[in-house]
Amino acid sequence: MKSFDFLQPRSVDEAISTWTADAAYLGGGTNLLDLMKIGVAQPTTVIDLSRIPGLDAIDHQAGGGVRIGAMVRNADLVWDADVVADFPMVAEAILSGASGQLRNAATVGGNLMQQTRCAYFQDSFSACNRREPGAGCAAKGGVDGAMAVLGWTDDCIATNPSDFAVPLMALDAVVEVQGPNGKRELPLSHFYGDDAAVNNTLQEGELILALRLPASARNFSSHARYVKLRERTSFAFALVSAAAALRIEGGVIAEARLALGAVAARPWRVAGAEELLKGRAPTAEAFADAAARLLEGARPSGANGHKIELARRIAIRALTLAAAGTPVRIPALPASVVEEPFDA
Ligand code: SF4
Repeated sequence: MKSFDFLQPRSVDEAISTWTADAAYLGGGTNLLDLMKIGVAQPTTVIDLSRIPGLDAIDHQAGGGVRIGAMVRNADLVWDADVVADFPMVAEAILSGASGQLRNAATVGGNLMQQTRCAYFQDSFSACNRREPGAGCAAKGGVDGAMAVLGWTDDCIATNPSDFAVPLMALDAVVEVQGPNGKRELPLSHFYGDDAAVNNTLQEGELILALRLPASARNFSSHARYVKLRERTSFAFALVSAAAALRIEGGVIAEARLALGAVAARPWRVAGAEELLKGRAPTAEAFADAAARLLEGARPSGANGHKIELARRIAIRALTLAAAGTPVRIPALPASVVEEPFDA
């Protein structure tokens, strides 16, 4: 590993003032340190955010929303009983990600910042437009069975690996950031942006302060699920995943939220798919229509056409489980795809 300066500022302003080109902010380190060890990330300065007071707070706001500090550990977030009760698919997504040890260290800000797990990105000898714009993309025509089927371009076919971000996208999360030019608030969709070859839209020196879920996200707490398909249930990134949430009144869907994970460079949400469900009974036919709309335009980026059918089925499964009702306790194997719907 290359040597670097290690700074531990005591305030956000101090952290930003110490930023230099080629610096990196450090959260829990569960992604950045791995990338540094394999030479993919080579910051000259590492700015540890763990000594800054207030970044690790969870604030349940008077109006019903929640503000989650960027340095809140994933494990601590799912120990917050109100977060689990109000936003159950967020908790289910976190518990389906990584291992207990990693969740103890990883932070919610770091989760949003994490890099793709594209094997070619992580191999500094392979061409990669994300590491070096204009270098090419070794994944195209390579081992591409798990790559993107939506929103990809010839520049990059990588997927976003986050479970957490999928329900956040469905629930209209907002990211609070601060940098040399002051504070900004970004809807999560803007945080990721539309450029498949870019990890996020943060500007030079900006760091995440917190993310917020609006009070309206609580409207779905009775019918919300996250479902994840992976190669081993205990510990793996998603092949495809889905977050589904319904507000059901009088046996009819009054409002729906639906997003897919691991199919694109960002969590994939299509407003038209949610609109299709409004006013309909929660039936298999309605869910199939919504899944088809969500996957409109999907196309293989390599030998991964099977992911389109997997994503369609996972979206329907998540909607079916959501309609059956949020479980009183999150299952022992959170987000397991083998779970059957049960009576609410
Ligand atoms: Fe790099 Fe994206 Fe190509 Fe992977 S898919 S090698 S991250 S440009």
